[in-house]
Amino acid sequence: MEKREKSQQLYKQAQEIMPAGVNSPVRAFGAVGGDPIFIKKGKGSRIYDVDGNSYIDYVLSWGPLILGHAEKQVIAYIKQALSKGTSFGAPTEAETNIAQMIKRAFPSMEKMRLVNSGTEATMSAIRLARGFTKKDKIIKFEGCYHGHTDSLLVKAGSGAATFGIPTSTGIPYELTKNTIVLPYNDIDQVRAIIRSSHKQIAAVILEPVCGNMGVVVPKDNFLADLRQLTREYDILLIFDEVMTGFRFCFGGAQTIFKINPDITCLGKIIGGGLPIGAYGASQEIMDCVSPLGGMYQAGTLSGNPIAVACGLKTLQILQIVDYKKIITMTEALCTAIEAIARENKLDLTVNYLGSMFTLFFTNKKVFNYQDACSCNTKNYAAYFTRMLESGVYCAPSQFEANFLSFAHGKKDIEDTIQAAKNALTSKDD
Ligand SMILES: *Cc1c(COP(=O)(O)O)cnc(C)c1O
Repeated sequence: MEKREKSQQLYKQAQEIMPAGVNSPVRAFGAVGGDPIFIKKGKGSRIYDVDGNSYIDYVLSWGPLILGHAEKQVIAYIKQALSKGTSFGAPTEAETNIAQMIKRAFPSMEKMRLVNSGTEATMSAIRLARGFTKKDKIIKFEGCYHGHTDSLLVKAGSGAATFGIPTSTGIPYELTKNTIVLPYNDIDQVRAIIRSSHKQIAAVILEPVCGNMGVVVPKDNFLADLRQLTREYDILLIFDEVMTGFRFCFGGAQTIFKINPDITCLGKIIGGGLPIGAYGASQEIMDCVSPLGGMYQAGTLSGNPIAVACGLKTLQILQIVDYKKIITMTEALCTAIEAIARENKLDLTVNYLGSMFTLFFTNKKVFNYQDACSCNTKNYAAYFTRMLESGVYCAPSQFEANFLSFAHGKKDIEDTIQAAKNALTSKDD
């Protein structure tokens, strides 16, 4: 593998003009050490850095690129849209087309609004839930990430329910005091809070399958119990499917677990690599949105024609692919890594579902954020660095999901398993 001189040089310049040289924190490699690599281009399952190194990519722009980099049909379609102009701030037919396509995959979204990011989608969903129920409190789960909107940027202390301790500075207590944070996969604590405070609780928001504490799968009845409880107490259930939407099937976690939430948030894959988000619900709930109703939400670039074209072509392709392909490959990769861990008696738990996975460096099962935090992040960092050196680009943090795309092939998986074997069993530090 060649050196990374040019990346290092570019990173130096970037650090002088942007905090930590990046436009989103985890890109700075703070959790794994070393300097970030600067990307020149991507093609299929691979990214290429400015020094001429190539890597099999399991980050895929943090999820959106389920078809791989620079997919031919998608690029051609964007170019066509681009030739007609970049933005109008007025309705276009393509917006209706993509909304109809999304509704086909997510029937619970009878009506929807397009926005510009996942953050905007969850922010709007919370406002909508509060407007509709005329209640203020929301329940979120520890380790679930819903973008960086103030009231959702809250973690919990350890133990039982913690009320509103912000994870970020700059968030007044007034903006988080209505956020109740509970441990994921613990229905008893949810039930207790809902029974005592349901008159104040507008909504429960969660990642129906977590990706943002690493991949954590809901326990058997967790989602069904949440659905039943929220329905019983007139609380809205919000599925944040920004990551899981179109990740397992032409639908979301709600499709595979057969649970209809009240509000769904989407992003990532529905933009195919351009900035987009969406939130949707039943007609009754969505008609509360301005100008039909009193809940205000707007956007200069919302429904942007280039982003919509990229998303629409991506979804058109996803409608006809066989998801089994990436699910089977993910399973093959993860079971091979589990086998390596077993043979070498390593403290390693591999969580995966569909085409997303995380290696947790612990001997425990990982069901919530506290379990995830018991991992040896130093071991993860060492693994990450060795993989990078072997030409495999993994998520640069223990608490992130890795993804497969339809551009990944058998050879990619074989090479990755070989690299993982070397990385996990290598003795030198
Ligand atoms: C990525 C993500 C978001 C935030 O989306 P942005 O487009 O980064 O604002 C929200 N929720 C979940 C579950 C995500 O994975």
